[in-house]
Amino acid sequence: TTPATDVYPRKILEYMEGFLISKTVFTSCELGVFDVLLAAERPLSAEEISQAVGASLDGTQRLLAACAGLQLLNTHWDNGQVFYSNTEQSRVFLTRSSPLSLCQSIQYSSRTIYLCWHYLTDAVREGRNQYEKAFGVSSKDLFQALYRSDEEMVKFMHLMNSIWNICGRDVVTAFDLMPFKVICDLGGCSGALAKQCTLAYPECTVTIFDLPKVVRVSGEHFVTEADQRISFHEGDFFKDSLPVADLYILARILHDWTDERCIELLCRIYKACKPGSAVLLVEALLNEDGSGPLTAQLYSLNMLVQTEGRERTGAQYAALLAASGFTNIQHRLTGKIYDAVLGHK
Ligand code: SAM
Repeated sequence: TTPATDVYPRKILEYMEGFLISKTVFTSCELGVFDVLLAAERPLSAEEISQAVGASLDGTQRLLAACAGLQLLNTHWDNGQVFYSNTEQSRVFLTRSSPLSLCQSIQYSSRTIYLCWHYLTDAVREGRNQYEKAFGVSSKDLFQALYRSDEEMVKFMHLMNSIWNICGRDVVTAFDLMPFKVICDLGGCSGALAKQCTLAYPECTVTIFDLPKVVRVSGEHFVTEADQRISFHEGDFFKDSLPVADLYILARILHDWTDERCIELLCRIYKACKPGSAVLLVEALLNEDGSGPLTAQLYSLNMLVQTEGRERTGAQYAALLAASGFTNIQHRLTGKIYDAVLGHK
């Protein structure tokens, strides 16, 4: 007979309901539960929290209980009544004012990615992204679809920004980039990785190259005058001439595009730079046999739903670089989500 543990489909049940967990986190952040607890500086009752966030008492009680079950809130019992406080991780990552806040990313996951994933089955069947169904916008020009409104663009920029506070240092120090003094971050977006470069390498300067409206918002909201070693260059990296640099960074750029588009872009970089220059790819690398990591496998599905690209293995990136002329190609795993691949001219 089969042991009882084998007939209880623990994993399958967990996966079937995984989205309940995501939605609990999304809603708690959207209502500002963690912010209210941060401001209170003492444990609060469900009643106090429900009033502060403007939600029903019954709904709030259930939400708080689930957050405690997820170990996102601590519980304190006093006279038979339960009070809640933030865990250390919730305070650092789930409050809006924290420098390491993931709230904006969570909001993007909730309002954009979650809606696209509603059409995952269609994406898999059709082999293409689902902007038209999810948002009624044509995805002919990928970034026109992604940036379908200014608000959507700023939300996307926040999503891009927040991860580099958490794992940016690891990717910029995976290789010694000290020899490269003039760096160009192509598709550099909010400048979060540019900042990590200037922190890790005191002698470098970084130019953020991105589409004009991204550069405008980045200069106004993300990069301050204090970041004196960071400058901007507006342009389209598929069409306009690229600034001369010792090192070009492409962080989470190639995963947006087909192999053909990637080679087109890498060839443009190769032509623009002098011998001795290099290109650093920052991506979530798949294992060579595709067996993991799970995060990269899921991100590759996300790329299917949202972009024209995919996640790739180190060898696949090396092949793209080699096809564009780059040599001496190496990759380094960081042990976090994003890894680094370096190629030289
Ligand atoms: N490198 C950033 C990071 O890792 O946080 C942002 C990555 S985001 C997935 C892709 C970036 O490429 C966006 O900032 C987008 O505006 C920029 N981009 C897309 N198409 C572009 C183009 N044709 N020319 C210049 N930048 C472009």
